[in-house]
Amino acid sequence: MRKKIVAGNWKMNKNYTDGLSLFSEVVNMVKDEVRGNQQVVVCAPYIHLHSLAALANGHQQVSVGAQNAHQEESGAYTGEISASMLSSVGVEYVILGHSERRQYFGEDNALLAKKTDIALANGLKPIFCIGETLTEREGGTYFDVVKSQLAEGTFHLSEADFGKLVIAYEPVWAIGTGVTASSAQAQEIHAFIRKEIAGKYGETVAQDTTILYGGSCNPKNADELFSQADIDGGLIGGASLKSRDFVDIAKAFNS
Ligand code: PEP
Repeated sequence: MRKKIVAGNWKMNKNYTDGLSLFSEVVNMVKDEVRGNQQVVVCAPYIHLHSLAALANGHQQVSVGAQNAHQEESGAYTGEISASMLSSVGVEYVILGHSERRQYFGEDNALLAKKTDIALANGLKPIFCIGETLTEREGGTYFDVVKSQLAEGTFHLSEADFGKLVIAYEPVWAIGTGVTASSAQAQEIHAFIRKEIAGKYGETVAQDTTILYGGSCNPKNADELFSQADIDGGLIGGASLKSRDFVDIAKAFNS
């Protein structure tokens, strides 16, 4: 059965001290309140990662992720962080292809394919983000956009490597806007993504792939979104900055 995951993306928020307090609250709440097999992942800024991984040690349900990694193993890339550096401090997941990286840092599918390779080669599990803009949604091209992001970014992988990915569908028009995709809209495209994966890797791989929804997810809408057949959890931005909201979202999977 595929894994249920609720992953937080702190983006460029929280100084070191505040980040450690927030994460400690999350770890304690998850221990006391989360009753299921769902994995809770916190994707924090680089400065927090080493300490968060130490705090997560011994708490199997909580993992630490980064929000980006460079596409090269090492070298003269001032200011960058490599996948091997991330693994060396206990990071397990890495978000790749977030729409903010695509939009503000010019990351395209070809670059993201390289980042995916290097992340996997260093034992990280990529949370690979795809999703259309408002113009693409309104123009009716959103299936094509999502299909090419998925295929160009990940379909070069072997079946074994593809099986290590988490896919996150994040419609750009729903990120940080307070506008959520309806559960029917999200389910429609999640089912489409799973069908595309089945077409490339077969039904078993498709059924085993965790596909997250992201975009203004909150404790009020998580239950309905996560109850859809092809939605296996969420990638949570704003609401992951409040421990109560974030853990309440994770509790949508409580058994
Ligand atoms: C995100 O940044 O991945 C995200 C989904 O943000 P928000 O939850 O704030 O819309």
